[in-house]
Amino acid sequence: MNEDTIAAIATALGEGSIAVVRVSGPDSIEAVAKLFKSKQDLREAETHTVQYGRIVDPLSGHILDEVLVTVMKGPRSFTAEDVVEISTHGGIVAVKSVLELVLREGVRLAEPGEFTKRAFLNGRIDLAQAEAVIDLIRSKSDRAFQVARRQAEGSVSKRIIPLRQQLIELIAHVEVNIDYPEHDVEDVTSELIRAQCGEVLAQVTDLLHKSNEGKILREGIVTAIVGRPNAGKSSLLNALARENKAIVTDIPGTTRDIVEESVSLSGIPLRLLDTAGIRETTDRVEQIGVERSHGALNDADLILLVLNRHDALHEDERKLLQQLKDRSTIVVVNKIDLPAQLVMDEIERDYAQDRIVYLSAKEGEGIEQLEKAVSNLFFSGTVESGDITYVSNARHIALLHQTRQSLEDAIEATYVGVPIDLIQIDITSSWETLGQILGDAAGDSLLDQIFSQFCLGK
Ligand code: GDP
Ligand code: ZN
Repeated sequence: MNEDTIAAIATALGEGSIAVVRVSGPDSIEAVAKLFKSKQDLREAETHTVQYGRIVDPLSGHILDEVLVTVMKGPRSFTAEDVVEISTHGGIVAVKSVLELVLREGVRLAEPGEFTKRAFLNGRIDLAQAEAVIDLIRSKSDRAFQVARRQAEGSVSKRIIPLRQQLIELIAHVEVNIDYPEHDVEDVTSELIRAQCGEVLAQVTDLLHKSNEGKILREGIVTAIVGRPNAGKSSLLNALARENKAIVTDIPGTTRDIVEESVSLSGIPLRLLDTAGIRETTDRVEQIGVERSHGALNDADLILLVLNRHDALHEDERKLLQQLKDRSTIVVVNKIDLPAQLVMDEIERDYAQDRIVYLSAKEGEGIEQLEKAVSNLFFSGTVESGDITYVSNARHIALLHQTRQSLEDAIEATYVGVPIDLIQIDITSSWETLGQILGDAAGDSLLDQIFSQFCLGK
């Protein structure tokens, strides 16, 4: 039997009303019980029963989601171990925050195919059955492979490869020092280890800080509301926030500063920025606002381009439409309660139907269409690659956390006089965990190869 407990998202990510986090191993019930608030303590739950309750972050006390939790005690479970499945609301944000909490309870992120591998190792299924499961999920794995490869060629790798190089040089240095202490090699001083590990640590911390996942959870999707003065940007923000934080006026150009509001659209956290109207202007104060709004536009993850349907298309808007067509932009055609002047043909040439939403910010009509468009853009438009990217990100993030821990341990150890060959274990382990991000297999036995063909969560 395996000693450690593993978890992963078991359902296909993306749209769908329910997503499942699967946890397997001796601590699965205990780990989930710490996060799960319901009438009955999960530890007391009968096997093969479903409990209703809430996932609560034990640190912040925040309620993450309403969930159903299924307890299946081993050996009568898929892996023959204690298995807990948490059914969350669909959508990346809910399921990934639940997964993160579970991982924080000392549970490890499952390797691809690890649940099936455990089922096999524990005698629940034979290899042929396991391979049949592989065939079943083959198509997904191929996509995951492509995404992984894309990432392997991508920016994360570019940053990790030199870090590994730096660590391997340090390891070699330490190795020589251990093996040939009598030789005239430069002493691996504590200072050297501190300096080298410290540098790598700073980079790893930076990567973690910038990880997209953390960013979205912390800040929400940065959403710029842009458009000409009087198009209805502030009204839209108000309609979305359902409170009156931005000042709405009839005089063009009065929204001079960026007004922010955090909202949740179908569970997606958005940080809305109402920008000053984009147009050529000579007014100094207004100009500053306009410049800032261009800045907000560059930084935005999502753009809501608001057009006034009661007016013909303006040259500024034509420019914006061109400029933004290859980004995550939704065209919001506002003021549908008024007679139409805007000709849509030109816009429809560059923007697909599902990226154009008709609404009246003033009447609050059509807001659900916008919610739908936003969630489509994030959860289905780019869903497959986006979501699998997230899964590997979760794995990357978990590995980066482990790397950081090992480096911190190594540095710490130099201060308390731990022998260098022991410190080297920590350094080596940080090198290994970084390697796993790049896809270096921990062990490459046949079994590992077979099971590594699975998706996460299977
Ligand atoms: P902004 O300059 O783009 O932020 O535009 P505002 O939100 O300040 O709105 C400008 C004017 O248009 C205000 O008088 C609003 O009441 C009006 N307005 C905004 N949305 C609508 C709408 O959907 N229908 C109508 N009839 N008027 C609207
Ligand atoms: Zn405004």
